[in-house]
Amino acid sequence: MSTAATSTPSVAVIGTGFGGIAATIELKRLGYDDIVVLEKASSPGGVWRENTYPGAACDVPSPFYSYSFEPNPRWPHRFSRQPAILEYINDVVDKYDVRRHCRFDTEVLGAAFDDATGKWTIEVDRGEPVVVDVLVPAVGQLSRPSYPDIPGSETFEGAMFHSALWDHDVDLRGKRVAVIGTGASAIQFVPAIQPEVGQLSVFQRTPPYLLGRPDREFSELHHKVFERVPATQLVERATWYGMVESLSLAWVYAKPLAAVLRARSKRHMRKGAAAKPGLFEKVWPDYPMGCKRVLFSDDYLPALAQDNVDVVTDRIREITPRGVVTADGALHEADVIIWGTGFKATEFLSPMRITGSGGRKLEDEWSLGAHAYYGLTVPGFPNMLVMYGPNTNTGGGSIIYFLETQARYVGDYVAHLATTGAPLAVRPEVERAYDQKVQEKLSGSVWSACTSWYRQPDGRITTNWPSLGIEYRTHARFDPADYEKVS
Ligand code: NAP
Repeated sequence: MSTAATSTPSVAVIGTGFGGIAATIELKRLGYDDIVVLEKASSPGGVWRENTYPGAACDVPSPFYSYSFEPNPRWPHRFSRQPAILEYINDVVDKYDVRRHCRFDTEVLGAAFDDATGKWTIEVDRGEPVVVDVLVPAVGQLSRPSYPDIPGSETFEGAMFHSALWDHDVDLRGKRVAVIGTGASAIQFVPAIQPEVGQLSVFQRTPPYLLGRPDREFSELHHKVFERVPATQLVERATWYGMVESLSLAWVYAKPLAAVLRARSKRHMRKGAAAKPGLFEKVWPDYPMGCKRVLFSDDYLPALAQDNVDVVTDRIREITPRGVVTADGALHEADVIIWGTGFKATEFLSPMRITGSGGRKLEDEWSLGAHAYYGLTVPGFPNMLVMYGPNTNTGGGSIIYFLETQARYVGDYVAHLATTGAPLAVRPEVERAYDQKVQEKLSGSVWSACTSWYRQPDGRITTNWPSLGIEYRTHARFDPADYEKVS
């Protein structure tokens, strides 16, 4: 086994979402420049490039849903719309000289660690393989749309698309539209399209808990104050940090706080649904609050209360050429079907084929569920650090806060590698003990009380961090003692 890592390790980052960009900026800040960022699309942005559905916005306030090192005094709204977030990402990419490292229109098909050279060889769909010391997949958890397996879907004669692949060529004006799913995406696009469509049938399997979204437009005065007195921005950020962290606090530690939030949600939802008799009873959830992601919206329920909207709670039996048939046999005719059915969140890094030391396949190692030390490193996969990996999603918070913690870890890891030379892998017993602790905590948590995209079919929760964001930041620190040299 050679010790191939050099004093300036080369790094390949996969993906230009918030995670890949954070890791690249941190490495550059530490003085590393031999970085290539591989991106399948022709521009940066991750989910904020992909999700262009009407009403797409972030339900975490921008002063907190942004990099700590790059506050933006000019957010147009407190809860930014997708175009503003994408513009921010592009600005950051330019300001921090990330674009120079990006190789766009290059999809990664797989990567293999070579025990003889101690390097990763990355197979891409265009051009020669890329060979580097360190591999940093940053493809997120929510990049691959999920379509439920409903009989007859392929027979539908109208237009049909997923919220994350919105077909802007389909004119919805006056059409009969069926929306399947009522998650974070649907609650944003339903109110955006409701006024223009003819008839809207919203197929709800499980309703979400909703809280108000205290949005506001930031005026020129706000922008000037944020620019001239940066402390005001810090206050806004700290306030929102506290607010969203208190959600995690409620789900994890403070049941009475969860009860207060539930009561608040009930008031908010009763008010939102008030215009249509019977609507509140249809949309009020019957599972513990926090189990699924709690959503923030002031306009979703008022949209459902409009005359041209029907909330269908009967199970979908099949799809026919003319529409959606429910278990009671009713045909809900539609010209367009929109899938608001989320993402394949638990299939981490798929469909890339990742091969580690000794030819082991990541898909085999993760066949019972993805697991990684602080979501970042996997035994037998030397010098691979996954951004937004297993159990690093937050049930209430800003994922960017977690990504910055991971970027710090990647930076410390690469800096250590630069001094030691030999590839490292996390010690199996360290990762196993960590995973056991995480799973124990999750098994008694609110997230185990219902099904959601946080869980795989067998119930294991592979997406969520079991605790507060601050605990992740405190504990997810690179310690060389957790690693062994690969030999
Ligand atoms: P999602 O939360 O996973 O929601 C999917 C919806 O589809 C659920 O209502 C689900 O019902 C329903 N569904 C799935 N299969 C179905 C079937 N066979 N029949 C009927 N309904 C079915 O997906 P998403 O709304 O795209 O959101 C995913 C995540 O993306 C969010 O949780 C969030 O993290 C992120 N996101 C964030 C924002 C933001 O503002 N920051 C905005 C959009 C998305 P069940 O609940 O019964 O499974």
